[in-house]
Amino acid sequence: MRLGRIFGIPFGINYTWFIIFVLVTTSLAMVEFPVAFPFWTRAQYWAVGIITSLLFFASVLLHELSHSVVAIRSGIPVKGITLFIFGGVSQIGKEAQHPGTEAKVAIAGPGTSLALAAAFWALSVVARPLNEQVFALARWLAVINAALAVFNMIPGFPLDGGRVLRAALWGLTGSFSRASRIATLAGQGISYLFILLGIVWVFNGNWIGGLWLVFIGWFLENAASASYRQVMLREALSGYSAGELMTRDCAYVPGDITVRTLVEEHVLRTTPDDVGGGRRCFLVSKNDTLQGIITLTDVKKIPRNRWDTTLVSDAMTAAEKVLKVRISDNAFSVLEQMDERDINQMPVMDDGGKVVGMIGRDNLIRFIRARSELGMQK
Ligand SMILES: [Zn+2]
Repeated sequence: MRLGRIFGIPFGINYTWFIIFVLVTTSLAMVEFPVAFPFWTRAQYWAVGIITSLLFFASVLLHELSHSVVAIRSGIPVKGITLFIFGGVSQIGKEAQHPGTEAKVAIAGPGTSLALAAAFWALSVVARPLNEQVFALARWLAVINAALAVFNMIPGFPLDGGRVLRAALWGLTGSFSRASRIATLAGQGISYLFILLGIVWVFNGNWIGGLWLVFIGWFLENAASASYRQVMLREALSGYSAGELMTRDCAYVPGDITVRTLVEEHVLRTTPDDVGGGRRCFLVSKNDTLQGIITLTDVKKIPRNRWDTTLVSDAMTAAEKVLKVRISDNAFSVLEQMDERDINQMPVMDDGGKVVGMIGRDNLIRFIRARSELGMQK
């Protein structure tokens, strides 16, 4: 759910955020505040609970925002910020190019949380003799922001502390991939510790806290593995261009055949001029000029009872709307573009703008598989 923009950075919330918002507010209004301050009215518990909870999420947003702002200032694009069940995440467009930049971007978040903790602590000191509600709110926010800073500085990738660790190792060894591997191992080790500790808690009767720890550990493990795969992909692909990995024998089809003909004679069958059945993507051309491209995704949008009456040229994505890559583009950046736009293949054009091939996820995956089969991964 998109909410708006701050400093030009779009931010939004995931539906899981509502679960945690309700949980935090309820535990504040029904447990935390009533235990510490027994003489408030029920309305006061809920009002202070809601405001505290909102300020907590504003704090998380500020933490993420500081990562994003430092990233943008260092020339790294940021797609947006999303708040979800475990806090926030900044979608940073690509990895930093230098260890110093990575360290700066990583440390900005915990630094902000620490500054917020100090500010709320100061507010709690001032408010203590004046207003119990403001005191309660400020004290809780001081503690939670400090906890946020400490948690995020745990040196396991992809936590902020793990990124700092990676930047330090990267600076020391000069190897991004080795630094990533060690920081990821640390991250996975910490995730397993979380899970183990959570199980111990569950057996000691702390069900909610224990399950929560297991959940966080599981999430961290997933995030660490996923980030590492991305690093390995970058490592494997970065020395190659789109032109080197693309398929040159594209299947061309005319635009004036029906969708059914396309499916029956080109998708599901091997024709003499074709490499085989099961193709997912076709270039549509007329007199040697590209009119568009049609993929199985486009075909699936047409109801089956209209396959006989719909022409390929009506179902395709027109050439001018198709995103293309250049033959000299880096293969990893091609993958990033496909991820960003959620597409599976892109036409590749030469310097004259003529389409000379197609590059798809399957090309890249086959390439990586072959590389690792030959023992070429670092
Ligand atoms: Zn952070």
